[in-house]
Amino acid sequence: MAALNLAGLIAAAADAIAAHAEELTALDQAIGDGDHGLNMKRGFEAVRAEADAFAAKPLPDALKAIGTKLVMTVGGASGPLFGTLFMALGKEISADPDRADLTAAFGKAIEAVAARGKSQIGQKTMLDVLQPVHDALAGGKPAAEIADIADAAAEATVPMRALRGRASFLGDRSIGHMDAGARSTALLVRTVGQAIGESA
Ligand code: ADP
Ligand code: MG
Repeated sequence: MAALNLAGLIAAAADAIAAHAEELTALDQAIGDGDHGLNMKRGFEAVRAEADAFAAKPLPDALKAIGTKLVMTVGGASGPLFGTLFMALGKEISADPDRADLTAAFGKAIEAVAARGKSQIGQKTMLDVLQPVHDALAGGKPAAEIADIADAAAEATVPMRALRGRASFLGDRSIGHMDAGARSTALLVRTVGQAIGESA
């Protein structure tokens, strides 16, 4: 992944979030407070604004700096959780990772998110996308297939009952709607997969 274009990846991620901000807002309006689209857009535009500075850093430092920026700018429950994901990824990953390095670091980063959120798979959160994506990475699946797995995993949160986050306040009424954070995670997975696929 030596040729990974981090500045391009950041721009693509910010574009994907911006293009889907209204959809994320609508999902969060159904079973949350309706700020997820705006939260994510604010955070990823802040990262985009400093993309060149992040891209000039070694990958581990870049990921840590992006995570810190997301914590400061996304807000809500998801800001510290996405921030933790990127910060932990930066802490665990090597400067020029192969798939095994990426998979191991991603696994540790998911553990950090779960610890931060006191959450686990099956509770209708972003973890319900992150974990299947990790498993697909570990299983050697190609990027396009992993992106489809992420979409399906987000879809699979629809019948779940939320046990963490604001949606959990609704109890059974959280059933029947997709988790907003699961959807934004799937969007990011597709974007990252495309960028890594192009540089592989
Ligand atoms: P808030 O819930 O504070 O309004 P957002 O709307 O930005 O924050 O983000 C909500 C998303 O954050 C949820 O859809 C869910 O995916 C994720 N989330 C919330 N709490 C947790 C948690 N404890 N563990 C994992 N993910 C969580
Ligand atoms: Mg919200």
